[in-house]
Amino acid sequence: MRLGVCWYPEADDRRLWADDTMRMRDLGLQVVLLAGAAWSSFEPERDLFRWEWLDEAIALADDAGLHVVLGTPTANPPRWLVAEHRDAVAFSRFWQPRTSVQPLCVTATATRAESRRIVGVMADRYGEHEAVIGWKLDEAAASFEQMACWCGECASAFSRWLERRFDGDIAALNSAWGTVERSETYPSFDAVHLPRTGRGVNGGLVLAHRRFVAHQRRRFLDEQAEIIRVLSPGRDLITHHDLRHDDLDADVIAGVGTIVGIDNNLPGGQLFVRNGFTHDLGRGLLEGRPTWVLHQELGARQSVSVAEAPTTDHVSRVLWAAHHHGIETLLAARWRGATHGVDQDLVALLDHAGQPTVGWRGVEQYLREVGAADPNQLVVPSARCALVYRFDDAAVGSQPDHHRSVVLDAYSGARRCGFDVDVVPPGRDLSAYDLVLFPATRIVADDSTSSFESAANADALVIVGPRSFDMDAEHGHVVGPVPAGADAVVRAAVSTSVTLSTPAVMDPGGCEGGQWSESYRLTVDADRATKVLARWIGGGALNGAPAVVRRGNVVSMGGSSTEAWARLITALTGRKLAPSGVEVVERGGVEVTIFDPSAMPSLWR
Ligand SMILES: [Zn+2]
Repeated sequence: MRLGVCWYPEADDRRLWADDTMRMRDLGLQVVLLAGAAWSSFEPERDLFRWEWLDEAIALADDAGLHVVLGTPTANPPRWLVAEHRDAVAFSRFWQPRTSVQPLCVTATATRAESRRIVGVMADRYGEHEAVIGWKLDEAAASFEQMACWCGECASAFSRWLERRFDGDIAALNSAWGTVERSETYPSFDAVHLPRTGRGVNGGLVLAHRRFVAHQRRRFLDEQAEIIRVLSPGRDLITHHDLRHDDLDADVIAGVGTIVGIDNNLPGGQLFVRNGFTHDLGRGLLEGRPTWVLHQELGARQSVSVAEAPTTDHVSRVLWAAHHHGIETLLAARWRGATHGVDQDLVALLDHAGQPTVGWRGVEQYLREVGAADPNQLVVPSARCALVYRFDDAAVGSQPDHHRSVVLDAYSGARRCGFDVDVVPPGRDLSAYDLVLFPATRIVADDSTSSFESAANADALVIVGPRSFDMDAEHGHVVGPVPAGADAVVRAAVSTSVTLSTPAVMDPGGCEGGQWSESYRLTVDADRATKVLARWIGGGALNGAPAVVRRGNVVSMGGSSTEAWARLITALTGRKLAPSGVEVVERGGVEVTIFDPSAMPSLWR
């Protein structure tokens, strides 16, 4: 794994730069990312460009042998530019203008023109610089709330987008969304408004809105990419994602680029396994292409409390975990501690006195350990397990918030059994995997069906979790038995589907079944090859009914918890089960513990 750092020379004393770039090299860093937040420093007034400082910073990085990635600065437009374009300011769902990051609407004609202008000027100047290896497009596409906009231009663009999607046929939209319910039949596309709340709103409309926001963002980045491809040929294009959120379809957005970049902020309050999951989710977005961590904080910031201060060893473990999850390049969040602004609290590699922090020492230790390691143990093998993940699945149903937790249960269960896991979008051929998981793959569409069939018809062990294959692509409930498709293979269909506040237990095994719980009935053509592997204890009407059903290599499991997935996978594969939270994988023929929560400070677990 290659290491680098986000560098904000515009905020540092210029006399430090030459020494800083040499120190980066001496530490073992190979990549710097800069310029993405510096628009006002190189264009302080309209068309008044000050490039000499950026020329110098890039030249110094080049002299030190560092590769340069330039960020397009469009998420942080200068205040003079925002003031010029009051009409292009983005609005929240409550009609509040957005003020900080991404203050301008990416649908607005003026924003897009400014974006093309500044990217064109930058790419014209630096596109063919020999030190420049790539471009990071805009900022992390964070949550839906931070990216969606309710301005007038978005409202009419939404109508036009729907019109194209339904080939100008409003009756087709009404039919797909079932608007006959509650007399919501639309007379025209202009009558479809951006929803302001998620509750009490037709699910088809909510899902379409999410898709529209991802599409608008994709188009905005496509315009940047088109310019850079011409002026900076052969360079990588990196999209930037915060995959802790599941409400913006990163799969749509990642397609602009050649590299997926993810944020990996300090996992405050979250299980460390979620970081592993976001690494693997990022890796799955562009098949066969590298994944970078663009922003890794290596230490504990003062604004959060930790049980103990992270040590050099802790930082090194974080880096090793990224390495073993197949990250190609990892950038530390910041070179020098910020003296002002929103990053003031961020842990950098150098503190405000210019002294190395725990992050720096962790980088040193990691590189030392890599240097001393058996090269065979550094190689990340092809994963034997695939987990099918679709962002839209997190948006359907009446309780979409449980989706990610079911996915993480399945993911953690496979990890505890020592599997490296590819998190993949539906549509891929999965016949080469040993284990394929559909944890809550809700939408039945050609892509998910073909993935299921490719795995079920091969030798893969296939496990379908609760709330799978039960919705259509427009948020309509499947008519007929579910999980649709799998029911015919296993010859069992869901009989009761419920969300339990107090989880019921699966017997044998004694595992809790989580909130999304379902029981099965064997269908009329079930034969002796259909086996009930577990039944529910408790859960009212669930009590005594089949909870896990298997026929051949396909299993339906009607509950979900890490323990339930782990026990089912270990029982069916014979793989050894690691203690809860511990990740052990095989590297170069030996078992390597890549993560052990008991060895980490509480915040990093
Ligand atoms: Zn807008």
